Amino acid sequence: MKLSVLFERIFARRWIAGPRLNDALDTVRRLNSHGISAQINYLGEAFKEKNRVKESVDMYLRIINEIKNNGLKADVALKLSEIGLGIGVGFARENYSKIVNAASSRGVFIWIDMEEHELVDNTLSIHRSFIKKGNVGLCIQAYLKRSQVDLQKIVRLGGVIRLVKGAYTESTEISYREPLRTYNYLKLMGYLFAHSKKFMIATHDTNMIKAALSSNKKYKRKVTYAMLLGVRNKYAIELAKTERVSIYVPFGERWTKYAFRRLREASNLKLIITSLIKEPASKI
Ligand SMILES: Cc1cc2nc3c(=O)[nH]c(=O)nc-3n(C[C@H](O)[C@H](O)[C@H](O)COP(=O)(O)OP(=O)(O)OC[C@H]3O[C@@H](n4cnc5c(N)ncnc54)[C@H](O)[C@@H]3O)c2cc1C
Repeated sequence: MKLSVLFERIFARRWIAGPRLNDALDTVRRLNSHGISAQINYLGEAFKEKNRVKESVDMYLRIINEIKNNGLKADVALKLSEIGLGIGVGFARENYSKIVNAASSRGVFIWIDMEEHELVDNTLSIHRSFIKKGNVGLCIQAYLKRSQVDLQKIVRLGGVIRLVKGAYTESTEISYREPLRTYNYLKLMGYLFAHSKKFMIATHDTNMIKAALSSNKKYKRKVTYAMLLGVRNKYAIELAKTERVSIYVPFGERWTKYAFRRLREASNLKLIITSLIKEPASKI
């Protein structure tokens, strides 16, 4: 058996709904039955070819229709490098505009994922011009030293944030390592509680979630707790009994980069084995 096939069988299936849109929609239905909403992502990134970009844009328009037509509780999550940022900022903006407008007319919310630091300025710039639409949100990575300033600017403009620790490999010049990464997460979370009415706490870290639950007793914000499919499914189901919870549901054939990022996070063997046995995507 080829190594890539073995890797897919063992790992990728835990973190990815499946190769087809229907696999994602089935996963979302199961999540919804537990009172959990979803963020549907069509896997793919760093596209340089216009035909690939077009295929992704068309898929997002389809996803938006499926969410609306099936009455699903789900948002969309996309990467700008998947819809043309690697070809040109104007091109990505045009494609994003098509998706946001279609989503707006169908009452669907769009999240932009945050990628490598080289893309941050253009990502912020594109997101900024759509904030007023009201149906868009942006991921901010606590490990980037610049994120405090970026986050504050977006919040002041009335933007909605999904706060994560950060998943790419960045240099220490521009990013924090542990424990500073987690410390900065808490600091940015504190700012969100104080200044933002609605945001997403995206983490599997029990300590971060407990801290957020505790802060919200005072602030009473509209907080959604977000996790990735297949990492802490059981905990998400438990949390959803009392809190708003959303699971990031990726699907598609281009799963390698996404799965490797997850593998790096679950960096010790015990964690990987626990995740494989206890948290398969199919168990949700
Ligand atoms: C909804 C959502 C959207 C995201 N979007 C982005 C994005 O747009 N850009 C970006 O850079 N990053 C994104 N991330 C990833 C994020 O940046 C982190 O890399 C990832 O969430 C791991 O960090 P953590 O906060 O869970 O804390 P960690 O300190 O990494 O982990 C805390 C605990 O969670 C568990 N855990 C974490 N990961 C795994 C795993 N893979 N397998 C098994 N157990 C695990 C372990 O128990 C671990 O001890 C997103 C994460 C979520 C939940």
